[in-house]
Amino acid sequence: MISISDVKKIYQSKSGPISAVDGVNIDIGQGEIFGVIGYSGAGKSTLIRMLNGLEVPTNGTVNVNGQIVSKVKGKDLRQARQSIGMIFQHFNLLWSRTVLENIQFPLEIAGVSKKERLRRANELLELVGLDGRGDAYPSQLSGGQKQRVGIARSLANNPDVLLCDEATSALDPQTTDSILDLLVDINKRLGLTIVLITHEMHVIKKICHRVAVMEQGKVVELGDVLEVFRNP
Ligand code: ADP
Ligand code: ADP
Repeated sequence: MISISDVKKIYQSKSGPISAVDGVNIDIGQGEIFGVIGYSGAGKSTLIRMLNGLEVPTNGTVNVNGQIVSKVKGKDLRQARQSIGMIFQHFNLLWSRTVLENIQFPLEIAGVSKKERLRRANELLELVGLDGRGDAYPSQLSGGQKQRVGIARSLANNPDVLLCDEATSALDPQTTDSILDLLVDINKRLGLTIVLITHEMHVIKKICHRVAVMEQGKVVELGDVLEVFRNP
């Protein structure tokens, strides 16, 4: 489903080149929940942003569902992105729009009819457990509810892959667990492949099948979660 081959990302900065991702190889299977863990600055968010073309690798290739994301541009890139959903630490909701309007936003961009947009948005609202809150504004919701809206929006175009960028890092432990339960539910129900980055071991242990540990742009360990985090 996802193949990251010999990927490097070098940023140019005033103090010289920064090697953010340095020769990473990862293959992720369909339906897998794959976690990337590491300290701040390890290169996690650069890596996940290369999966949907938000960053372009300096070297190597990123293949998602048969598309070489690292090569496609313009219309093809926009199309590839529709099959890749993403959720964020700070939700990235539009604050002047209601919950239902936020969920419909990607469908609007994809040119889906008004009637179909509304039908789909209501279906997604139910899927994430927010029935009845469609007319609320994000500011009226708790953090966990905001992330549920983020998840519903990310699923609007029926993606094959969901990318989660520190999706629970702004939430308290109890809310984190309920969001992680929802992700597992979606993974099982829709067969969605999930790639998440986090600095929290608990998140990896709770829902991931496999994990890569990143340090200074490199993958220093990769394997089944139970294997990588076994007690000595
Ligand atoms: P993480 O997500 O693990 O915290 P990042 O991918 O954000 O790691 O960052 C990896 C390294 O790349 C860090 O040293 C960071 O300062 C640097 N970096 C990230 N984005 C940029 C950028 N746009 N320009 C320059 N350096 C960057
Ligand atoms: P939180 O920390 O609760 O997530 P933030 O202030 O970080 O809230 O905002 C979350 C997201 O919503 C950010 O991506 C930000 O750009 C966006 N945002 C915040 N305020 C507005 C606004 N008035 N209109 C549109 N977008 C907004």
